[in-house]
Amino acid sequence: MQEFIVGIDEKPFRAAQLLKWIHQYGVSDFNAMTNLSKDFRARLHEIAVIRAPAVIQDELAADGTRKWLLRLDDGNCIETVFIPETGRGTLCVSSQAGCVLNCTFCSTGHQGFSRNLNTAEIISQLWLANAALGGNPNGGRVISNVVLMGMGEPLLNFSNVVTAMRLMLDDFAYGLSRRRVTLSTAGVVPMIDELRKTCAVSLAVSLHAPNDALRDQLVPLNKKYPINDLLAACRRYAYGRERQSRAAKITFEYVMLAGVNDSLAHAQELTALLSKVPAKVNLIPFNTFPQTNFRCSPWGSIDRFREVLLKAGLITVTRKTRGEKIDAACGQLAGRIRDRTRRRERMMSVPVNFQ
Ligand code: SAH
Repeated sequence: MQEFIVGIDEKPFRAAQLLKWIHQYGVSDFNAMTNLSKDFRARLHEIAVIRAPAVIQDELAADGTRKWLLRLDDGNCIETVFIPETGRGTLCVSSQAGCVLNCTFCSTGHQGFSRNLNTAEIISQLWLANAALGGNPNGGRVISNVVLMGMGEPLLNFSNVVTAMRLMLDDFAYGLSRRRVTLSTAGVVPMIDELRKTCAVSLAVSLHAPNDALRDQLVPLNKKYPINDLLAACRRYAYGRERQSRAAKITFEYVMLAGVNDSLAHAQELTALLSKVPAKVNLIPFNTFPQTNFRCSPWGSIDRFREVLLKAGLITVTRKTRGEKIDAACGQLAGRIRDRTRRRERMMSVPVNFQ
């Protein structure tokens, strides 16, 4: 913003004013920006525009979860989800139209991949949700947390995601603390190191299996970055982030798939694996979608699995499923994207190579 402002021969401090108008007051009309001179406003009006993707569907579930379907300029549609809880409100943001990773249990993966979202398309999800929820910087904040856990693999769209996250953290924009912005990745190891160096927000890792043989099948990216390399990167992240003595815990996500990864032996293997990482575990009940044969583990198995982890001293919570009636739960986001990968024709056994 400062570069843009300086580029049109205005004083750099105007950048902060503009950011506040746009992101804190949600104003999209330059004329309403009353602390800017009339000439400057007219100039901005000529050369710039503030707008967000069109909301083409807005659904509210009985539990308060709200999902927006947004249409981008090129016709791709993406989804954003708001999850209210006592004491906080979490917005789940998409980073790509579709996803290249093809995790076998995920609906987004089944849709294929179209493209990366640009910074504006990522931050507009927060901008739009704030406006829709009546976000007001002077009152309580409706959106207290942001998770990059929507459609796409955020670390494969690194620079746009980081720029958007910097706005989330910026005092002149959304002013969220690093603890309240969480990026979830399937494990793009070199980019985890980059993130540690450039924008060390909270990290969540989609593990889903305690050994390579099984993880190769569920998360094909594992063939490129196996578990040992991934956990080494997680350790660097946990210890590198906070210079003080206490390491920041990494959240490991583990989807509960009946008869696949949910036995007590898997739980013990997972416990041993995570013993060397500052970790907490999120068990995610599998959310179904039309093209899948996977089933969610029975509640009893999830509880027993959790007990094993808890007994070993691992903080473990079972993620409450929210908004599944409106297909807003983890792994159900599909949007309507133009698949450029022709995945269905090429089948699932594509070699994993993204760089
Ligand atoms: N690509 C990133 C961001 C997606 S986050 C990542 O893999 O972390 C979405 C989370 O929901 C991930 O942990 C993902 O593995 C999980 N998930 C995907 N499909 C799911 C499903 N059908 N049921 C429950 N969780 C699912």
